[in-house]
Amino acid sequence: MASKQFQNQLCVYCGKEHSIPTGDHVFARQFFLEEHRSHFPKVPACLDCNNAKAKDETYLTAVLPFGGRHSVARKNLTLMVPKRLAKNQRLKRELADGITISQAGIPTMLPIEIQRVTRLFEMITRALLWHHWNVRLPDQYAIECALLSSVGELLYEKLFEMNSNNFVDISLGNGTFSYCGAQGAGDPNFSIWRYEIYGGLQLTGDPDFPEEVARYVGAISGTHELLRDQGLMSN
Ligand SMILES: [Zn+2]
Repeated sequence: MASKQFQNQLCVYCGKEHSIPTGDHVFARQFFLEEHRSHFPKVPACLDCNNAKAKDETYLTAVLPFGGRHSVARKNLTLMVPKRLAKNQRLKRELADGITISQAGIPTMLPIEIQRVTRLFEMITRALLWHHWNVRLPDQYAIECALLSSVGELLYEKLFEMNSNNFVDISLGNGTFSYCGAQGAGDPNFSIWRYEIYGGLQLTGDPDFPEEVARYVGAISGTHELLRDQGLMSN
């Protein structure tokens, strides 16, 4: 049975500890409406990594539907978010302070703790590298993740046009999450990813670009050197 499929495998996130038998859902099930929750990718993950990831997922499953344009986000907002916020009063107050409401009464701008988004998508990228192409990133590689500014979107378009070894273009839960990824032709550890959540979020909160509204999250895996030379490392 699938419930013990990851027994004795190494965690894809830290690469050091053994996985819990059931592994980890790459995209947390709470992001999806109940009718869409099946056949999602799972990876081996240890208890510590699982718990760390779950903290960011809990925050983001409550917050992200506010910025979504997809009907799933709207439904999620009505059906599931109120329950989550009832359990988390601090978050509820933060959101009430930060959200901009459009004339139609729809929340449009979402200030968000960006590092929780990038930290989660770094883990998701690590998981998808393993899930699709059986890649575990060696130590000299890192993943850089960011909300894409309009300039960033163009840069990613260019990168996706380069020669690649493998390419995936996936939509999960009727478009709740969609992503594409390309693996470098010369180096299987080099990859580029672009994520869209709830039909394109409108996220703000990047301290470097306070006026920008982002639709995609981008991620690149490469050597520390390459990420630094390309100016892709944030520090
Ligand atoms: Zn781990």
